[in-house]
Amino acid sequence: MQSSYNTDISVVIPLFNEDESLPELVTWIDRVMKQHKFSYEVILVDDGSTDKSWQVIESLSQKIKEVKGIKFKRNYGKSAALHKGFEVAQGHVVITMDADLQDSPDEIPELYEMITQQGYDLVSGWKKKRHDPISKTIPSKFFNGVTRMVSGIDNLHDFNCGLKAYHHNVIKNIEIYGEMHRYIPVIAKWVGFTKIGEKVVEHRARKFGTTKFGLERFVNGFLDLLSITFVSRFGKRPMHLFGTLGSLMFILGLIGACYLGVSKLYCVYNDIPATRLTQRPSFYLLLTSMILGTQLFLAGFLAEMIARNDKDRNRYIVEKETANTTL
Ligand code: UDP
Ligand code: MG
Repeated sequence: MQSSYNTDISVVIPLFNEDESLPELVTWIDRVMKQHKFSYEVILVDDGSTDKSWQVIESLSQKIKEVKGIKFKRNYGKSAALHKGFEVAQGHVVITMDADLQDSPDEIPELYEMITQQGYDLVSGWKKKRHDPISKTIPSKFFNGVTRMVSGIDNLHDFNCGLKAYHHNVIKNIEIYGEMHRYIPVIAKWVGFTKIGEKVVEHRARKFGTTKFGLERFVNGFLDLLSITFVSRFGKRPMHLFGTLGSLMFILGLIGACYLGVSKLYCVYNDIPATRLTQRPSFYLLLTSMILGTQLFLAGFLAEMIARNDKDRNRYIVEKETANTTL
């Protein structure tokens, strides 16, 4: 295979207590790569496993030179593991897959072809036929629907599929933090990688071990979706949201309060009987509106100060430049 990269494919595998699956997975990947004559590396990121995973990784890397291992000091989470794996990955195409043998390495050659030949930035797997309990598949449908709507990526059915392929440039330019592994296509799109595709992939039942995510995945997933939407829309200009809302509420409150005050004065001067301001419910509503408006404005101002100091504030990706530009 020809490319300007030394390695065709990096396979990044985050894992937490998956010692039983690893040997089978790694030999399977090795077989597929050799069959298709790919140069490759497998980066196994042990996310603080407490079983024998690390011993298994060490012995695998002695047997197969392409196998590289990283072990975290404790369990930081799947996103952290992916982030670390992306940091070291060298390949032209970077493929992520789960360690539990639910994703099939046989999909790799086709994913590679989609990135290198068809020009996709990112290809996400779609577990069309799933081997998961219904308690997982129904909420997942809902999430994918909402994510499609919010992100505008309307051609993906399965954002959270562990099996994905990326062009090298994508993984080097996106920042996955917190629990954002569920929304990598959304992050990639907002950074500017818009050619996002999908491939139906085989989903197998978990052979060993158990799932590492419980029901809390849905609550966390939803909160993450909110924050990612918010951060990507207003993260760089918080004042536009808070400032507008705050000013609007304050002005409304002020106008209303002025009206109440003036009408009261008018009544007093003309000897018309009028209720006390403090006995009118609208007075309290308007007061609250002014206070909330000030608070929102302040929140926006503080957020703006933080955004100014953010080291990432001017991280933009340059795609091309003319020959006489030196960046
Ligand atoms: N995983 C991880 N750190 C964690 C939890 C999970 O690296 O804290 C890995 C896990 O070992 C597996 C992948 O993430 O390789 C997906 O996890 P799992 O199969 O439990 O999720 P599910 O398939 O149930 O969505
Ligand atoms: Mg799994």
